[in-house]
Amino acid sequence: MKFCGGAETVTGSCIYVTYGANRILIDCGMFQGLKALRLLNREPFPFPVDELTDVVLTHAHLDHCGRLPLLIKSGFSGRIHLTQLTADLASIILRDSAKIQEEEADRANREGYSKHNPAKPLYDLGDVDNTIPMFHQVDYNSTVVLSKDLKFKLHNAGHILGAAIVELEAGEKKLVFSGDLGRFDSEIMHPPKKFKHADVMVLESTYGDLNHPAVKPVDELEKVINETFERDGNLIIPSFAVERAQELIYFISRLKRENRIPDIPTYLDSPMGVDATNVFYSYSHLHRLDNADLAHMQDCVTLIKDYYRSQTLLHSKQPKIVLAGSGMLTGGRVLHYLERHIGNPNDTILLAGFQAAGTRGRDLAAGKKELKFFGAKYAVKAQIKSLQVLSAHVDAAGTLEWLSGLRKKPQHVFLNHGEPEALKSLQNLLADKLQMNAEISKYGLTYTI
Ligand SMILES: [Zn+2]
Repeated sequence: MKFCGGAETVTGSCIYVTYGANRILIDCGMFQGLKALRLLNREPFPFPVDELTDVVLTHAHLDHCGRLPLLIKSGFSGRIHLTQLTADLASIILRDSAKIQEEEADRANREGYSKHNPAKPLYDLGDVDNTIPMFHQVDYNSTVVLSKDLKFKLHNAGHILGAAIVELEAGEKKLVFSGDLGRFDSEIMHPPKKFKHADVMVLESTYGDLNHPAVKPVDELEKVINETFERDGNLIIPSFAVERAQELIYFISRLKRENRIPDIPTYLDSPMGVDATNVFYSYSHLHRLDNADLAHMQDCVTLIKDYYRSQTLLHSKQPKIVLAGSGMLTGGRVLHYLERHIGNPNDTILLAGFQAAGTRGRDLAAGKKELKFFGAKYAVKAQIKSLQVLSAHVDAAGTLEWLSGLRKKPQHVFLNHGEPEALKSLQNLLADKLQMNAEISKYGLTYTI
């Protein structure tokens, strides 16, 4: 087993597993954030791509699926196993990723701010079109046989719609890959499945060093919204398109329904967010909201995909709430809103989730007074707020709860998908509370089980 991403970082998730003649990959995510990481996207894959037999995808977030088109470009021709919902969402996310990269390369070439000459996208829409036909849909809890003694099942991970934990059986050994784990107290998603037995466990560690505060996200949001509108300001929420946008729309619709905030015009300005929201509305049996909740959500928010409507909204002076991608301000339409609002002390930029190192979102959260984008510098004068409580990941206590299902300690526990402090804390916590020796997975190292 070799970690080819998501090792001592939260992005680029990719684990290469060999067993007998099988060569499989769990996830093939994009590196994001710090430049040293992003450059890894342009490196050749650290395994022979032509020998790869299967890919198993845990969920549709870009940091788990974002390098799939590159894998196909590099010669992979096997199957990509995933849930139906992940297939729907990954198609949306990969198309959007290709489009953003094409647009950014274009813009950099036009305005001449790229150091590469000419700037080239990692992949384009054509590469994504070659990837989607290789999706092979798998139901939760059904067994997929890869070879005589290698098989796997996907189980609900509760992280975002369609997200899965991978249970891989290789001969006598059972390996459980947590993927990204959802929370036990989510108001929207069902909790992650617990396991009684695993010989090897690969465990995500995003929030290994903290516990989510006990405050309710909807109460925090109420406060930020009311404070902003008392100043006649605009509220700009950089939002992840999948899960987070729907969660925020749900909370805003509840606050309006309960008359806790004024009926402020609210928009989701994100082609990908709109597609993901429509997917969310159509798979109501896979989340906890009922039809009345969904109807309120639909009434409460105007969905915008069209570029010209987006431009009109961008230039309107009326106070409003706008949700737009990307969630960590690494690109997307939200940057145009930032350009207009970041210099106004009456406006609020509300960071609504984890901000990885090296992203503009992390800079804002850390109180940086100047932000660079579109080849220029902007002074930060708007109010910067963070909704730390909104998270689609388990925290440290939730991780212990997830592991509490185990009847016996696994022989190997590998921690991945975390930044160094989170990994170290979780390693200590597992040793203290469960007498479990966990290893922090290293990029490019091969582990033999
Ligand atoms: Zn995720």
